[in-house]
Amino acid sequence: MSTSKSFFEQVNQHFNKAAQYTSHDPGLLAQIKRCNSVYYFSFPLKKDDGSIEVIEGWRAEHSHHRLPCKGGIRYAMQVAEDEVTALAALMTYKNAIVDVPFGGAKGGIRLDKSKYSADEIERITRRYASELVRKNFIGPGKDVPAPDYGTGAKEMSFIADTYKALTSAPLDSLACVTGKPVSYGGIRGRVEATGKGVYFGIREACQNTDDMKKLGLTTGLAGKTAIIQGFGNVGYHAAKFLHEDGVKIICIAEYNGAIYNPQGIDIPALRTHFKETGSILNFPSSEKTPDSTKALEIECDILVPAALENQITIDNAKNIKAKIIAEAANGPVTSDANEELHKRGVFIIPDVYLNAGGVTVSYFEWLKNLSHVRFGRMSKRFEEKSQTKMITAIEKLTDKKLSPEEMPNLISGASEEDLVNSGLEETMVNAYQEIRDIQHQHNDQFDLRTAAFICAINKIVTSYKHAGIFP
Ligand code: NAD
Repeated sequence: MSTSKSFFEQVNQHFNKAAQYTSHDPGLLAQIKRCNSVYYFSFPLKKDDGSIEVIEGWRAEHSHHRLPCKGGIRYAMQVAEDEVTALAALMTYKNAIVDVPFGGAKGGIRLDKSKYSADEIERITRRYASELVRKNFIGPGKDVPAPDYGTGAKEMSFIADTYKALTSAPLDSLACVTGKPVSYGGIRGRVEATGKGVYFGIREACQNTDDMKKLGLTTGLAGKTAIIQGFGNVGYHAAKFLHEDGVKIICIAEYNGAIYNPQGIDIPALRTHFKETGSILNFPSSEKTPDSTKALEIECDILVPAALENQITIDNAKNIKAKIIAEAANGPVTSDANEELHKRGVFIIPDVYLNAGGVTVSYFEWLKNLSHVRFGRMSKRFEEKSQTKMITAIEKLTDKKLSPEEMPNLISGASEEDLVNSGLEETMVNAYQEIRDIQHQHNDQFDLRTAAFICAINKIVTSYKHAGIFP
């Protein structure tokens, strides 16, 4: 789809718009906006058939104002310097918005994953990791990658293992990357974290009665209709949690077509179908729409683009009928389409806030790796015993006994997953209120994205000032 500006220019356009509402030193604002370093490299892959292919990779570290830098690794055909730089910049602002004390980074390899065997992907990933080690672009205190489009726990464990083999400081080596399998230093709740964070963010937005009234919608999620673009990690989990909370998912769009059912799609059943057939298509009791881009234009309350950038451009923005666009992907709405939609009163929950659940839980995983202990391990039994003592005392005082069925519901220490989900919910709810307050303080004269960027800029300026760089 067409867009006249590069992705990084679009991110900077959002930054510039927000910066106008601050009074920070222009030199400092210029420093924040710039990308500190980009590493481009190529290496040979020996394919399974013995042929040699050149593979291209990038890692961009946008900001070192806090260390380590943090951001995912993407495997896709459109990976390029502009894309990783823009995504690294978004990571800087995202981390600041949700108070994750990291700089922003992003990496990627230009490839179509479906064209490579599992062994080839392992060789590519391990070589990519060793290139990062060679140039000091990875390490628990330097730069910590995570999964993104086209990558997952498997690739992250190859990276951790390669780093461990090459580093001179192996003790904390698992903290060099997040999104690992739980059995290899990962944390419970990371896989679903981004989609769950998307759900918390949408839920929070829909709780605001005044905002919903302006859109002609009722307060809360129940009964709202939604369309999801992309049924990968983020799209599937966002759909799952929205569906569980009463949202009717009427359409799911994938790269090869879309399925539609105005009565609502059964998300767990679709997930099973997707696992069995490798596609969402031919799912029973749903209509098929061959042109999946048209699916974005179907009438609904909430449109959740969860695939890639530049999906809603000035070309199709006029056809979008959704009242809320919840940006689960990075950069799905171009900056000019954003202006057009905002003018039309469409409520956009911006990527720079909405998909921050992944990095939030990655931060928890990094903390776990550095502390070398599972969250809840030392407190779970203690909490259960304290709760038992309290209930026993109340039973004695009131001379009443709880039934054996009631007891377990009241006595439960927090597990790692409970703590991760609690931290994630707290983070997404607080950050939403913070950016909504900034918008409110400026009499709602700009969109939520501008408020989110103002929030990020203010926090990054503060951390530069406290470092003594700009007194
Ligand atoms: P993924 O690879 O797991 O899933 C992406 C899905 O989108 C795939 O199923 C793919 O087939 C589908 N897709 C590709 N092109 C499409 C098109 N034109 N129309 C419809 N569907 C299409 O990737 P993911 O991890 O879910 O990432 C999706 C987006 O979320 C990306 O923008 C990524 O940067 C962002 N994101 C991901 C995370 C994370 O933790 N994984 C965190 C923050 C942001």
